[in-house]
Amino acid sequence: MTDRTATVVKVDQYTCEGTGFCVRSMASVFSFDDDGVAVADQEAAALADHDELVEVESMCPTTAIEVVG
Ligand code: SF4
Repeated sequence: MTDRTATVVKVDQYTCEGTGFCVRSMASVFSFDDDGVAVADQEAAALADHDELVEVESMCPTTAIEVVG
C-alpha cells in the first residue's frame, strides 16, 4: 500500500477565460473543450513535472487552475 496521492489539476470552468496560456505552456496536460474553456487531462497531470504544473497554476491570469497533491 502506498501513501502517495496522485496530483489532480482542477480548472474552474466558470473562471477560465480561455486565454490559452496553460494550453500553450503544457499542451500535454491542458487543452480546450468545444466551448473554448481549458480542461486538464488527469492521467497526463499525474505524470507531468509537478513544479511545471504549479508554475502554470500560478501564472493563470484568472486563477482558474488549482493543483492538488
Ligand atoms: S491560463 Fe487560465 S484562463 Fe487561460 S486558458 Fe488556462 S485556465 Fe483558462
